[in-house]
Amino acid sequence: MTAPHCPATPAAAWERIRAVNPADYARTRNALDGAVSGLSPYITHGFVSLREVFEGVAQQHPLNPQDKFVFELGWRAYFRHVWQHRGDGIFTALHSGPLPEHHYSGRVPDDIRQARSGVNAIDMAICGLYDSGHLHNHARMWLASYMVHVRKIHWRAGADWLYGHLRDGDLASNHLSWQWVAGTGSTKPYLFNADNVARYAPAPWHSPGSVIDTSYERLAQISLDPNHRATTTSPAAPHRPATTEPNLWSAPPSPWKHEAPDAAALAHRQVYLVHPWSLGPLPSDLPANSLVIGISVSDFHQAWPWSQLRWDFVEQRMADVVALRWHGSAQALQSALAHAQSVRCVADPHMDRYLPPGVVSPSAAPLFAPVDGLCSSFSKWWKHAALG
Ligand SMILES: Cc1cc2nc3c(=O)[nH]c(=O)nc-3n(C[C@H](O)[C@H](O)[C@H](O)COP(=O)(O)OP(=O)(O)OC[C@H]3O[C@@H](n4cnc5c(N)ncnc54)[C@H](O)[C@@H]3O)c2cc1C
Repeated sequence: MTAPHCPATPAAAWERIRAVNPADYARTRNALDGAVSGLSPYITHGFVSLREVFEGVAQQHPLNPQDKFVFELGWRAYFRHVWQHRGDGIFTALHSGPLPEHHYSGRVPDDIRQARSGVNAIDMAICGLYDSGHLHNHARMWLASYMVHVRKIHWRAGADWLYGHLRDGDLASNHLSWQWVAGTGSTKPYLFNADNVARYAPAPWHSPGSVIDTSYERLAQISLDPNHRATTTSPAAPHRPATTEPNLWSAPPSPWKHEAPDAAALAHRQVYLVHPWSLGPLPSDLPANSLVIGISVSDFHQAWPWSQLRWDFVEQRMADVVALRWHGSAQALQSALAHAQSVRCVADPHMDRYLPPGVVSPSAAPLFAPVDGLCSSFSKWWKHAALG
């Protein structure tokens, strides 16, 4: 799997939208070289909305709600639905999993961080993640399943770690997917074996002779055995040198430059805020004399630091759309913004809690009509979620 080229422009997102072929997608999406869209960094950071993706694809191909591609857009919307209803409850188990929580370690061990677990599929996934900030969905499932069920690492530790390295990291899609794999957010744990890897991944990923080269029955036993914690012993795996885990940054790293929030810059101006989840085109109705400020909030990033790849992606786009760039605490930001005549920005659940009340407005018409009341499964939600 090569690093996807990921220019930080809406034009690049539209190029990917135009390249989606729903029939090829449905047929090949499970393969690492399948016809997936590569749109997730653009969707996550608000370059394009789910509705724009749907409508853009539908302009080129007949598309209906039963298409696999639409179904997958639905998964993203469903995870947002769960986040909206459960709030920070998505960071704890939605229900019990295969084993009581205390049987899982709260730490991601060094052999995994250094991509030398001895299971080729896992080590290839981690190297690719570090190189590109991206992982194919199937590889994410393998990585999460191996960590939770074979290595007995708590899904939350795995989710927090992976989030930091993804360019498309989304707290709902990421943490709830980990819960889905772990079995704390689904009816059964997701398990995979070496045959599954051999079917969907190229040869360097194949993992014969490793701990995953076994039957699904044996993997189910392993997932239920609190004492089974396979280590890096895999006779068939080639010796792999340690890979250096990229740093994660809780503030925009060099070369990006920022100022602290400053009330004096506002002088009763109409302010429009661009944040890392609203990197699409500026609104067409923005008053001509508006002050457009790019912001990032230290409270968020101290809890959820990002890789240089992700900061670069966000900052390159910010540099294209704003002249003034602030990084500071939510309190400093709110104090400064109190001096503006008015403030507007696009809503996103990663950001909303840090902004002054009343400034956010929904980004675009949602693709799926909102569903009232929490649906405990995707299938229940899907029955109610009409295309809007
Ligand atoms: C452990 C794990 C962690 C994940 N973490 C994230 C994350 O942090 N951010 C994220 O956007 N997705 C996450 N996903 C979902 C999925 O892996 C990615 O959305 C997908 O791989 C992105 O590649 P793509 O844009 O080529 O997707 P495509 O297959 O082309 O799909 C198009 C779009 O549909 C949405 N989508 C597709 N599959 C899923 C899915 N299974 N769940 C939710 N939305 C989906 C995405 O927005 C994606 O861009 C995770 C999945 C797993 C198993």
